[in-house]
Amino acid sequence: MKISDLLQIIDKHTPFDTAENWDNVGLLIGNKNAEITGILTGLDCTEQVVDEAIDIGVNTIICHHPLIFKGVKQIIQQDGYGAIIHKLIRNDINLIALHTNLDVYPKGVNAMLGDKIGLQNMQILNPEKTTYYKVQVFIPSKNLQNFKQQLSDHGLAQEGDYEYCFFESEGTGQFKPVNGAKPYLGEIDKIEYVDEIKLEFMIEKNQKSITIDLIKQFHPYETPVYDFIQLEKEAGYGLGMIGSLDRHYSVTEFVNHVKSKLDMPSVRFTGNLEDSINNVAIIGGSGIGFEYDATRKGADIFITGDIKHHDALDAKIAGLNLLDINHYSEYVMKEGLKSLLEQWLGEASLHVNINVSTINTDPFTYL
Ligand SMILES: [Zn+2]
Repeated sequence: MKISDLLQIIDKHTPFDTAENWDNVGLLIGNKNAEITGILTGLDCTEQVVDEAIDIGVNTIICHHPLIFKGVKQIIQQDGYGAIIHKLIRNDINLIALHTNLDVYPKGVNAMLGDKIGLQNMQILNPEKTTYYKVQVFIPSKNLQNFKQQLSDHGLAQEGDYEYCFFESEGTGQFKPVNGAKPYLGEIDKIEYVDEIKLEFMIEKNQKSITIDLIKQFHPYETPVYDFIQLEKEAGYGLGMIGSLDRHYSVTEFVNHVKSKLDMPSVRFTGNLEDSINNVAIIGGSGIGFEYDATRKGADIFITGDIKHHDALDAKIAGLNLLDINHYSEYVMKEGLKSLLEQWLGEASLHVNINVSTINTDPFTYL
């Protein structure tokens, strides 16, 4: 299997265009035509992780955090990030980043964290909306069948497992060509009445330009009449998870439970130690900013990492419970991504040897 095939499979499940626009996901370093000898999953691509890939003989690393994120000004073998990039290239290792596209995936990092701490009935905390269009085109009846077929052949007018989803209603179109017109039907200065069909169908946001091209190509009129009505629907993905525990926990009990399940030597809590915890919202990494929304949605506690003093103080004054489980707790994605990849490749009857990095890339030491 080539890198390009792997990218295609990943994109099908965790589309790269669902990543935040400030993010940097996909193949960051490598060769799309390279044959994959094996995969190593990691949280951060440090030099030790590259060495690990070389040692176990795999040529593809998939990490959550993009190695190339801010502007890379130099790539020098002896210096910092340059050393890592240099080593990847010298050793023909491909580096793929699955970052915020894996965060918003319903079985992604937040679901993996939720599973670890035993959340049940998990739902997406912040479901995203996606834009789509209802299209209506007015077309002479005799051109209808071919037009619909063209739309369908180009993958338009589909809903889930259904193709060829159209609605049509009959009516009378009318127009008067004037000087300069080259009408397909009718004569200059005479009102023409035509049996027309109003054809309606749905398209995805990224199908708008192909739809316009097809209308212009297959509609017989010099000036076809059509409208795009912009609508919104749930995208089926979004950041964070909210779910419930098997029972009510005291804060101390819950904190100890989380520490042990995530194997974290130290976590930080702010809030009311007397509260009872049952509903839990979680955003791995740096999810601060969503704590008020999580509380409105019924969370007794909001879990994330990278909480700063003032965010913690604001939350405490507002009566919220926050638990900082450290950004590094996202390491659970290493195992989680291995399982997802095995499942996705299995569905495509493909097999690649997938390894989980054993390197601890937490920059902090807990003393
Ligand atoms: Zn992160």
